[in-house]
Amino acid sequence: MTRTLSVFGATGSVGQSTLDLVRRNRDDWDIVALTANSDAAGLAALAKEFRPRVAVIGDPLHAGDLRKALAGEGILVAAGEDALIDAARMGADVTMAAIVGCAGLAPTMAAVEAGKTVALANKESLVAAGALMMAAAKASAATILPVDSEHNAIFQCLSGQIDRVAKITLTASGGPFRTWSAEHMRVVTPAQAVAHPNWSMGAKISVDSATLMNKGLELIEAYHLFPVGLDRLDVIVHPQSTVHSMVEYVDGSTLAQLGPPDMRVPIASALAWPDRMATPCAPLDLAKLGKLEFEAPDYERFPALRLAREAIAEGGGRPAQLNAVNEIAVAAFLAGTIGFLDIADCAQRAMDSTAPIAPQSLHDVFTLDRQSRVQAADMVEMLAKARV
Ligand code: NDP
Repeated sequence: MTRTLSVFGATGSVGQSTLDLVRRNRDDWDIVALTANSDAAGLAALAKEFRPRVAVIGDPLHAGDLRKALAGEGILVAAGEDALIDAARMGADVTMAAIVGCAGLAPTMAAVEAGKTVALANKESLVAAGALMMAAAKASAATILPVDSEHNAIFQCLSGQIDRVAKITLTASGGPFRTWSAEHMRVVTPAQAVAHPNWSMGAKISVDSATLMNKGLELIEAYHLFPVGLDRLDVIVHPQSTVHSMVEYVDGSTLAQLGPPDMRVPIASALAWPDRMATPCAPLDLAKLGKLEFEAPDYERFPALRLAREAIAEGGGRPAQLNAVNEIAVAAFLAGTIGFLDIADCAQRAMDSTAPIAPQSLHDVFTLDRQSRVQAADMVEMLAKARV
């Protein structure tokens, strides 16, 4: 049976992997909306191939290029943040939420409010507005299917027995600097930080993986998706990225989901759920792999993980603040303005200096997000000056 699908962040890493699976199962999907932010040429090429009803470019500066590229194609072209929200409200059977950062919050929330299935890759929206988004999903009866490989693994291992869970353990590859000293990490370059040992991903999440902030954001994401309480959420470093996460039950059974480090596996799981679909991913060859290693995370060298735990424990506006400051700091690091260790330093300073109010509405989340970005920009400027 053909189902309708919208892909938000279609030009990105998760978006492209999603469309690769659609390409291989073309008759199963009718595309409603494809979106990007500034890559008009990339979006136009995808739109010509997948024939969505609407192609939306987030940054209106690039609307002209998209209109020109899609002239005469019979595809509606729209631009701007409101157009992204309108596209999400079109309510496809499945919406892939794969915009990066808090920019994905409003469209993801609109898709959740439409009451269909949301395949959630955009973890930052859940981090910034987790309680509001889970409440909206309950109210609209939307199904949120986690796409992040760890949360998808947990989802697969849960089988409706959440009240019998003793512990949920998220695995972390440890990133490219797993064995590096803090002194060594002080001088790493953006190119080194985005070179993830196992996964091929967008720049922001690659840097987050290197600081372990990604695992911290994932802890917050897991806290909302799987309400077992913070004391039952754990992280273990597993450099092979083969075990994607584990659920331990009260009877001593631990269920784990294993797979190759290829995002098309969890994406396929979400697209086909509750069924399964074939993927072109190479199957696991455990004999070739030989061994699977596990080690405790180092909260000293990777303070981002500790900050995320503290943000969950404190609740309220802390996670949204942490997320916003991290986004600004990562962008500054990628631009060469601040150093790698300054990213977590910015987050620590922000958390030490202000106590954000608990957001009661999406409007509050956006206000807090804006304020935290201004605060982070000031810190970036100060840290940048200290470097020269
Ligand atoms: P990419 O940077 O590769 O792609 C981001 C996408 O979002 C692009 O389509 C980009 O458009 C669009 N975008 C960026 N900014 C905006 C904006 N302001 N408004 C509208 N659209 C915007 O990211 P990834 O695919 O790596 O990650 C996407 C999300 O999935 C993130 O939240 C990440 O944490 C999560 N995730 C990613 C994984 C991965 O393997 N990559 C794994 C698990 C989770 P344009 O191309 O025009 O800039």
